[in-house]
Order: sequence, then structure tokens, then C-alpha cells
Amino acid sequence: MKNYLTISEVRKGLESKEFSSYELMQHYLKRIKDYSRLNAYVTLDEDKALASAQQADERIAKGEDLPLLGVPIAVKDLFCTKGIRTTACSKILSEFVPEYESTVTQNLLDNGAVFIGKTNMDEFAMGSANITSYFGACFLPYRKKSKPDMELVPGGSSGGSATAVASDLCVAATGSDTGGSIRQPAAFSGLVGIKPTYGLCSRWGMVAFASSLDQAGPLTKTVKDAAIMLKAMAGYDPKDSTSENVEIPDYTTFLDQSVKGMRIGIAKEYLEGLNDENLALLEKVKSWLIDAGCEVVDISLKTTSYALPAYYIIAPAEASSNLARYDGVRYTKRAENFSNIDELYINSRSEGFGEEVKRRILTGTYVLSAGYYDAYYTRALKIQKMIKEDFRDNAFAKVDLILCPTTPSTAFGIEESANMTPIEMYLNDVYTVNANIAGLPAISVPAGLSKDGLPMGVQLIGNRFAEGDIFKVSHVIEKSANFAELRKEIITI
Ligand code: GLN
Repeated sequence: MKNYLTISEVRKGLESKEFSSYELMQHYLKRIKDYSRLNAYVTLDEDKALASAQQADERIAKGEDLPLLGVPIAVKDLFCTKGIRTTACSKILSEFVPEYESTVTQNLLDNGAVFIGKTNMDEFAMGSANITSYFGACFLPYRKKSKPDMELVPGGSSGGSATAVASDLCVAATGSDTGGSIRQPAAFSGLVGIKPTYGLCSRWGMVAFASSLDQAGPLTKTVKDAAIMLKAMAGYDPKDSTSENVEIPDYTTFLDQSVKGMRIGIAKEYLEGLNDENLALLEKVKSWLIDAGCEVVDISLKTTSYALPAYYIIAPAEASSNLARYDGVRYTKRAENFSNIDELYINSRSEGFGEEVKRRILTGTYVLSAGYYDAYYTRALKIQKMIKEDFRDNAFAKVDLILCPTTPSTAFGIEESANMTPIEMYLNDVYTVNANIAGLPAISVPAGLSKDGLPMGVQLIGNRFAEGDIFKVSHVIEKSANFAELRKEIITI
């Protein structure tokens, strides 16, 4: 079996009977064992996975045809999966087995997908290195040329999904993105990752972090796979009051459309403080887009630097409220020692949450408290409004898409990340949080390799529901970068 199969290649192989879904599942389950030290998966139910692959084979034999029929997909452990443990990689949820299926995973199942298992992530999706997981860190299979012994992290919080796709331990995976958790791991891992418009994918059955910012999306090997996955995941859901009732087009039809005449904005604020490698990559991408007929326009988004501080007020505020439900009574792992109800709550929460989650709850509670609400939370919401208006008036009134970096650096080492202060860690999100704050769709596409041989991504941000345009331009970048060839140069273990 050829390695690193894409969704279309799998579908073709299944149709032509080159392999069965069952064989494919066996192949991935074996690879997962061989690469268990990467710690990509936190829950596997092999019998269930093989049984659903077999059912898919029976459906294929009957002539059924669905976009993901028989395709093995990995699921971030933040999506509730009926009868399969869902922990958000927190001790407090380590025994939680949902009785319902999240809408996004149900949509994937309805499209014929077969699930391999649940992937590692930062606890409650809080982090940028996948080092806050209750189940331990997870690792990228790549090596830096200059430091071949250094263990690298895949980024976070969807680190397990990124590792699983990049190491070919599944065909594609789901992720979630509150401040960059799909795009940053995608950039570190040489993958495509899209956070769609807020409201495009239902949040029902996703473990909530910051509800006004959380969005589901795919991590995939190619732009085409991302287009197929997103179409399957998205759709109106009356069970989520913020779900958008819009038609979801077949995004693959955008891929080969001409980009002639499209206007791509580069905001000077995103270039400030950027390292030379990132700047050179953006110049290269700019020239590819010009060659393809786009017009590249200089723009200015003056609110850019306010997004990160606003995010680190709004997200913890919402998290502190969302995580109040984990009290040792429902869903959760209860502390063993307590002598009254207060102690039950306190001990269960003290023992069940990790350090970073506690920091967010404390920060969130502080900014929402009576004396500080106006000084922090209300101001952050005002900034959010300014950022939205800035995008509207100074970007999308003039251009179709914005081109900018995804991350300030390439993948870093596990020790480097362990030594970062919380603020240093938060700074990794400096280019990604803006799209969440404004509810806009944004993608990270692999566009090159660093001098040290690691993947580098670039980001495209679009106006609400401009996913089609995003895929169209991403496809040009993917083809021009010829990343499938570049990938072969990465030192992989
Ligand atoms: N890294 C960011 C944080 O720690 C974003 C997380 C996310 O998108 N879930 O909050």
C-alpha cells in the first residue's frame, strides 16, 4: 500500500478494490503501534474501528458512494463520541463516556467516515505545544537538521491530530481552533488546516473552551482533502444557537478556478518583527500569486497588535464560566477524600485540572469579577468590535483575502516549550487569534521549508463565508510550493 494516501486516493483505491477499508484500518492500527512513542492517540478501540471499516466495505460492495465512505479519520479528543471516552485530555474528564455524538462527528459518520481513535491535545484545548495534556506530550516525527536529537512538539492544541496526519497514522483528522489550535499545528507539521467562519461547523457536542471563539475544522495532507473534509463537517444545526443557516458548497469545485484579478492584501502590521525566513517566504508566496494573476495590495490593519491581549481576556473569561460545570458531581472524576459538598467541589477541581487550566480559570474569574469587569472584560469586548471593523473597513472593503504568516517560528523543542513562560507561550498565537476574535475563516497552507529543514506555513484570512476563495488561492500556493516534493526533504523518524 502506498504511504501518505489522501482522501481521493483512498476513495479510488477502495472503489477499484486495490484495498479494503478493513485492510486500511489494520494498516493504520499497526502503524499507530509502531509509532506509539509519538503519543498521537489517547484512546483507541481497535475492535470498534475494524468493525466500522468492515461495515463500510459492505456498503461499498453494495454500490454506495459517499465522499468519505471507508476513509479512516482521527478525531480530536474534544468531540464527544457516543460510547467512546472523551476527555479533552483532562484528568477531570478522564472517565467520561458520552451518551451522544457531536454534530461534527455525526456529520462525518453520515458521510461514511470510519473513526480510528481519539487524538491527544492540550488540556481543554489550552496551549500551543500539546504539553498540557493529562496523557503526556505528543511529538512530531520530524527532526531539525542542526539538532537531530531534539524532540519537537507538533504545536497545539490539536497536536495529536497534527502528529497523526503528519506521521500517516490516519488519512485526515478533526481539530478545533479557538485562537489558532488548527492552524499553528498545521504550520508546524507541514499540513493544511482551516478554521472556518464562526458558525459554519456546529459546536454541539464539542467540549467548550471559549464558546464565542471555538470552531471545528480539519487537518489534512492537501488542500483538496481540507475542502472535502470541511464540506462533510459543516452544516446548519438547530442544536447550536450560533450555527449559521447557509448553503455549504462543494468546496472542491473552487480548486481549479482561476484566481486572475483576485486582490490579496498584505498588512504591514503583520510584517513587523517578523524573522527573515518568514519574510522571504511571504515574498516568494507573493510572487507566485502575482504570476497566477492576483493583484497584491499593501494594506494596514492598525488593531492587529490588540488582538492577543483581548484574546487572553475573552478566552479565559468564557473558559472560567464553561469549566464551572466540572464540579465532581456530573461528567467528572470525583475526588476520593471530602467530608462535605464544598470539599467535594474544591478537591475534585484542585485534583482534576492541570496548572494551565487553573491559570485560565483564575484569570477569567478575575477579569469577570465585579471590580474588574469594566476595566478588563468590557474593554476587551470593545477592542473586539474595533478589530472586526478594522477587517471590514481596511481589509475586505479593498481586498478579497489577507496573506500573512501563521506562526512566528517553526516547530520548537519539547524542552524549549517546557521552559517558556506562559506569556512566551501565548505569543505563539500572535498571528492566529485575530481571525477568531473577528469570526473570520483562515487557513494555514504549507509553503516551504526553513533552513533547518522544518515545514513553514502561510496564512490566508478571508471575509465571512469566503472559504471557497480561500481554497482557490491555497491551491495555487500548494501547487507553486510543490510541497509534496519538499516533504521528502524533511528528516523524518
Ligand atoms: N494557543 C491558544 C490558547 O492557548 C489557542 C488554543 C486554541 O485555539 N484552542 O488559548
